[in-house]
Amino acid sequence: MKFGIDKEGRKVHYKNALQWKQYFCPYCIEKLVLRNGKKPCFAHNVIKERTPLQRMCPEYHESLGYSKIDNATDVAYVMNGGIPLYLCNDGNRFELRAYFPTISENCRNKLIQNRAEVLINKKKWCCIENLSYYRVYDITKWIDISIKPKLGTEFKEVKRKWLYGIKGIDIKNDIYYSSENGGYRVAIKANIYVGKKYRMMFLEKAPWVNGIVFKNVGQIKLKENCKQKVFNIYEMKIIKFTEEVRQFIEGKRYHLADKISEIIPLWPPAVCDGKELTFNGDTAWFYHLPNNSSEYLYEIQDGKMYFLSGNRVFKISDISAFSEKVVVITNKIIKDQKILDNTDDTNVSAEIKYILNYKKRLNYKNLLEVKIIMKDIRGNIIDYNKDNNSVPEKGILSMDSNVPIIARVMKGNYCIYSGKYGLEKIDYGRTINIDCRGFGNIYYRYNRVCRYRKINWKGIREKFYMYRGGVTGSATYENKILMYKLRKNLTKENKDIYKILYKWIWTEKVPVNLQGLLHKMGENL
Ligand SMILES: [Zn+2]
Repeated sequence: MKFGIDKEGRKVHYKNALQWKQYFCPYCIEKLVLRNGKKPCFAHNVIKERTPLQRMCPEYHESLGYSKIDNATDVAYVMNGGIPLYLCNDGNRFELRAYFPTISENCRNKLIQNRAEVLINKKKWCCIENLSYYRVYDITKWIDISIKPKLGTEFKEVKRKWLYGIKGIDIKNDIYYSSENGGYRVAIKANIYVGKKYRMMFLEKAPWVNGIVFKNVGQIKLKENCKQKVFNIYEMKIIKFTEEVRQFIEGKRYHLADKISEIIPLWPPAVCDGKELTFNGDTAWFYHLPNNSSEYLYEIQDGKMYFLSGNRVFKISDISAFSEKVVVITNKIIKDQKILDNTDDTNVSAEIKYILNYKKRLNYKNLLEVKIIMKDIRGNIIDYNKDNNSVPEKGILSMDSNVPIIARVMKGNYCIYSGKYGLEKIDYGRTINIDCRGFGNIYYRYNRVCRYRKINWKGIREKFYMYRGGVTGSATYENKILMYKLRKNLTKENKDIYKILYKWIWTEKVPVNLQGLLHKMGENL
C-alpha cells in the first residue's frame, strides 16, 4: 500500500513516513506497519477474525477464506457501521442503541413463519416479533449479528440491512449527530460541517481545540475490558474552520467541510424515525442543498446503486415495489457497482442519508369498535354471539357500552320498553333492538320455538297429578290458547297431559295452583 493516514488526518506516502509514527489504513482505518527492505510499503497486520470493515478494504490481498466485500452497496452499509447506532438520552443520562432497520412486511412475515431468531455474538437474543433495538453496552470492535435458521437467498435484503452487524463503539473516533430523539453515528469519512452540532464521548474532559466549543451534556455507562466506566458526553459545535479543527476531525477519519450540505425530504409527508422515512405513496421528492465539494447522490435499489440526477430537486419512485430504497451521498462516481478500488483515491465516503420504507397506512390508530356488555340481574354476562335463546331472568338486562346507545324491547312494531343502560319486559316473541346510531343497529329476537323440545313433560305430569284435587277455577282465554297449541304439537310424551287439560277446560275446573305452570307452558310452546 502506498499511502497511509497519520493521526492528523494527512495522507502520507510510505517514502515520507517516519518509523516512529503511527499510520492508519485509509480504507478500513486499521493501524498500518511500515515495511522496509526490498519492497517497502505500508501493510496491514495479519488479523485472525476480520470485521466487515476489514473485509471491505481493497488492501487485503491474502485469501484466507474470507469473502471480500466489494459491491458498492455492501461497502456503503459497512462504512455506515452496519446497523445504525444511535446515541439516545433521557435528560443527561445517555445510552447507545442499535436500531434494526425496517425490512419489508413480506420478508418479516416469512421470518416469523420460519420462527427465526436473532443472535448477537452467537447468543440467542430475541425473536423477530419482538425486535426493536439492541442496547450496546460493551466496548468491542464489532458486534456480530446472525439469524437462526440460516437465511436463504431470498433474504438478501435482511443480509444487507442486519447481518453486517454493528460496528463497535470507538470512543476516540466516533462522532454522532445531535438531535432530540438521539443522533445516529456519522459514517466513517463522511463530512463533518462547520456550524453544525455533534456529540462525542470522552473518558475525561473534552480537549481544547481552537475553533470548537464543547459543552458537557451528560454521561454514559459502558463496559470496557469487563470494567464499567463512565464517559462524558459532549456537545461539539465547530464554530470556524481552522487547521486544529481539521486535524482533530480528520484524525478521526472524518472530513471537515466548511459549508453545510443537506438533503431535505419535500413531499409527501412521511413518518420520520432517525434515518428512516416511511411513505404511504410510491413517489417522494427531495431537495439537495449541495456544498462546494463534489457530491454525488445515489439510490440503492435491491442491492445496486443508481445515480440520481444532479438536479437540486430529485425524485425517488417505486417505493412500494422495492424492499430496499436508500439514499446515499458520496464523493465519488460509482463505476460497475464498485466504489473502492486500488487507486490512490483514499478519501471515498458513502453516507446513508435516508432509508425509505413503504407502508399502506402511516397511521396505526385502531378504528373504534362498538363494545356492548350485557348482564342479567345476577351479573352474568350474556353472550349473544353464541346460540343463546333463553330469556334473561325476570326479563331484565343491564347494558354497558363504549358508545352512546338506545336499546328497545319491541313487540311487533311497538316499543314496549326503552333505555340507555338497561332493559325490562324482555320475553319470548319480543325483539331487542340496540340502536348504536352511527355504528348501526343490532337486533335480537327471542324465539319460542326452540324452547319447545326442552319442556319437561314428566315434571309437568307430576305437578298435574299433585294439584288434581285442589281448588279449581274457570278456564282463561290463555288456557284455551295453550290447549290449542298443545293439540298442534302432540307427541307420545304429552298426549295424556293434553287429555287432562282438555277435560279441565271443558268442565271449567282448572286447578288454580297450576295457572303459573300453564302460563310457562304457553310461553314455551
Ligand atoms: Zn485497510
